[in-house]
Amino acid sequence: MKNSFTTPNKLGFYGDFGGAFIPELLQRNVEELNVAFLNFYEDSQFLNERNQLLHDYVGRPTPLYLSQSLSAKYNCKIYLKREDLNHTGSHKINNAIGQILLAKRMGKTEIIAETGAGQHGVATATVCALLNMNCTVFMGEKDIERQAPNVARMKFLGAKVIPATSGSKTLKDATNEAIRYWIDHPASYYLIGSVVGPHPYPQIVAEFQSIISKEIRCQLKEKKGSELPTKVIACVGGGSNAAGAFYEFYDEPTVELFAAEAAGMGIESGYSAATSTLGSIGVLHGSMTLLMQDEFGQITEPHSISAGLDYPGIGPLHAYTIANGRTNSINITDDEAVVAAQFLTLNEGIIPALESAHALAALDKIELVQNDVVVINLSGRGDKDMEEYAKHLIQ
Ligand SMILES: *Cc1c(COP(=O)(O)O)cnc(C)c1O
Repeated sequence: MKNSFTTPNKLGFYGDFGGAFIPELLQRNVEELNVAFLNFYEDSQFLNERNQLLHDYVGRPTPLYLSQSLSAKYNCKIYLKREDLNHTGSHKINNAIGQILLAKRMGKTEIIAETGAGQHGVATATVCALLNMNCTVFMGEKDIERQAPNVARMKFLGAKVIPATSGSKTLKDATNEAIRYWIDHPASYYLIGSVVGPHPYPQIVAEFQSIISKEIRCQLKEKKGSELPTKVIACVGGGSNAAGAFYEFYDEPTVELFAAEAAGMGIESGYSAATSTLGSIGVLHGSMTLLMQDEFGQITEPHSISAGLDYPGIGPLHAYTIANGRTNSINITDDEAVVAAQFLTLNEGIIPALESAHALAALDKIELVQNDVVVINLSGRGDKDMEEYAKHLIQ
């Protein structure tokens, strides 16, 4: 953790953002987690076990694929980091594997998690099946309806899925329910799915996802003889795939970083999830960060065509790096994402997740030159989004 951007201070702050704003009752849980993480994240036995699973079970390293069609369209080199090829179909499993091994080291047997689209719930239920742990997943009632296939997967994997029936019945409410349950069951391990929540979660999740940029570095060196791209693009919901894809490059000033946020139906439309543009500072789910709120500090309902980006906050690491100019944020509408997904599908035979399609669409909004070497993090595959794509099919 040499990295100056990704290491928070002792209280868990990245600049003005982060920290641990939690009830007294959770203080001990969070402290226990911090101690375990500091003990194990550089422990060679822990890392060997994790790396073995990432290799043999998840299927890492994921390929870095030179897209001929995108390279021709934008007249520079464009690579896709294929996180869609991971077991369970997205980058979420990288973090789930790391945290479940941490939970095991801590002697935990009961795992709880929140999920929106269900990708994190599926990843968590998967690693719980693998390590024989009890798994309870909180999910908004509305998301349970919208994401039926993932709910079925979680249940088949042995997880208990508990509907969150408060508020908007989506991800933020599921997170509230998970935190409430955690307070009542302090022996359980809360496996958070993105770089959000109280310190040390943002740091833990970023660390476990950093495998993405570590691999990009090696793979670029192999393919091009130079380790550094000129630009890296990733979509941001909470920001875990982006944190993983940017991690190794924060301290490389020649590498430009682009965070693609969901503008939904448009920034001005009132139906958007573009937190870094529309948000202001406040506390959400235990962390001081940028969030979408009204004049009374009530969370405003986010909207995105992609359930994975439909979150009213953003991880404190991203709030910090966007505020200080290290990361550029770019807004992508629902329609722009679908057009980009259709292009990749027709020209490469790769159906991207709707979330990842936001990163692809950012290519149209960035100035590119012929010498550019661009890496786009393809965070997941689009199987789960077929119903949505079918509605927008360009005939
Ligand atoms: C969950 C998800 C995201 C958004 O989460 P981040 O923490 O911002 O990465 C993006 N893409 C896919 C495929 C996802 O499943």
